[in-house]
Amino acid sequence: MNELFEKEINCPYCWERFTIAIEPSLEAGESYIEDCYVCCRPIDIYIAKINNDHVEIRINKIEGNEF
Ligand SMILES: [Zn+2]
Repeated sequence: MNELFEKEINCPYCWERFTIAIEPSLEAGESYIEDCYVCCRPIDIYIAKINNDHVEIRINKIEGNEF
C-alpha cells in the first residue's frame, strides 16, 4: 500500500480550497509542513488518524505567519 492519500483542505490563512497529497509513510500523531498552493504560507498538517484507506488530519496555522 503505497498510494498517496489525497485530501481537500482549506488554507487557514487565505481560506482557498486545494488538494494535498499525504505520504502513506506518515503515522498518526506526526505532523509536517505543507505550503499553501495559493498564498504560500506554511500550514501545519497533523495526522490525527490513519489506516488503509482513510486519513484524518487537523490543520493549523504556524505562529508568526498570521499577517
Ligand atoms: Zn493560503
